[in-house]
Amino acid sequence: MEKIISLCKRRGFVFASSEIYGGFQAVYDYGPYGVLLANNIKQAWWQAMVQAREDIVGLDSSIFMHPKIWEASGHISGFSDPLSECKNCHTRSRVDHLLEEVNVFADEKMSEDEVNKIFDEHKSKIKCPSCGKSDFSEAKKFNLLVKSNLGNFTGDPMENPSYLRGETCQGIYVNYKNVVDSTRVKMPFGIAQIGKAFRNEITARQFIFRTREFEQMEMQYLTHPDNEMKEYEKLKVDRFDYYINNLGINKDNLRWHEHENLVFYAKAAFDIEYKFPFGFKELEGVHARSNYDLTQHAKFSGKDLEYKDPQTGEKYLPHIIESSVGVGRTMLAVLTDAFVEEELGPEDTRIVMKFNKKLAPIKVAVFPLLKNKPELVSKAREVFDMLKLKYMCEFDDNGNIGKRYRRQDEIGTPYCLTVDFDTLEDGCVTIRDRDTMKQERIKIAELTSFLAKELE
Ligand code: ATP
Repeated sequence: MEKIISLCKRRGFVFASSEIYGGFQAVYDYGPYGVLLANNIKQAWWQAMVQAREDIVGLDSSIFMHPKIWEASGHISGFSDPLSECKNCHTRSRVDHLLEEVNVFADEKMSEDEVNKIFDEHKSKIKCPSCGKSDFSEAKKFNLLVKSNLGNFTGDPMENPSYLRGETCQGIYVNYKNVVDSTRVKMPFGIAQIGKAFRNEITARQFIFRTREFEQMEMQYLTHPDNEMKEYEKLKVDRFDYYINNLGINKDNLRWHEHENLVFYAKAAFDIEYKFPFGFKELEGVHARSNYDLTQHAKFSGKDLEYKDPQTGEKYLPHIIESSVGVGRTMLAVLTDAFVEEELGPEDTRIVMKFNKKLAPIKVAVFPLLKNKPELVSKAREVFDMLKLKYMCEFDDNGNIGKRYRRQDEIGTPYCLTVDFDTLEDGCVTIRDRDTMKQERIKIAELTSFLAKELE
């Protein structure tokens, strides 16, 4: 993990937020390569989820919504994590996470008393993740919704707050009728959305795995009640395969985890877990949620949210299955999976990020062999200009070629092209492959068709 964090900072993937002010806990900024990687991840998700599917449409709902939405969803009363403080070092930890370490699983719907009962039974076996002592305070539940004073100009802004959304899917539920009325979707169909969410996470020590501001990619699929489980099984297969086929993740680093304690309305809940440097942890949730969400919104809004089948005339509240994953969490999985340290010889190692080529932030780097030879520089510029609008490219004329290769390896660039004196004669450049480090000559005129084959 230390190596990944250090590479992320050194090579401009991820910076701690507000670093010059000492940082701002559990919030991170994406640097020049991080933003490209995150964009490629979102594009891959959107392509698989929306573009490739005739039965799924997109949405971009706002971060702020009517506060009643969060009452209806249960977030105001129930969106809370139990927290305990280590009496020795004062580190606060989530009690459900502490219990997981001794293989005890607390239901997220348990009351404070119920959690404390289990915690009391097991806490002597649990050690503080910070100092290793075993001396914990009582568990206290803490609400995760982040409050704001949006639109509130008088009185205590925290008294009638607006909330920054704690998840993106509520925007999908409350818009589902608008989508039905304004498009040609027919049951079953899905609505997909990518957007920011905010949670007052208590423990957030695992880099970009858990942050207080994060981006979610969520797809809610609406079905006739009778078809919920059939569609759920299909979605499970699609989502697991997506990580292997679309993102190129090693399948040995992925597994399913079934929730032991289902919330009362859920039909099934599985998580796709990835083997992060700190162990297998949730990457994505794939859940069958029955008609709970729409039932709640119908009740709290007083609106009829039933779907009327245009063919049969049957009216029903659709059941919903969901796929929900964070961009940052996917990015950490992709970074972990790509990170390779290779021994090239005695005391010679290279770090190379073997990203799936579609996800690589920079696709092609173009180098003139020598910086001080104008004819090489201008030929290299010509190649760079020819490719730059098609692919994210980088021009680099700094230092020796070996160093330039190593820099590109660390940011995962699949191809480096070098313009040398022979280029001026034969119209060929040297193309070097990131993974095999093989170098070959290729005609400049053939570059676009070669790259199209390899990168698209
Ligand atoms: P946890 O139990 O780890 O807090 P959760 O089960 O509450 O997570 P969901 O509400 O199901 O998570 O969120 C769906 C997905 O959103 C998660 O699988 C994860 O990829 C992402 N996610 C949730 N919370 C965070 C966060 N604080 N930071 C980054 N990603 C998050």
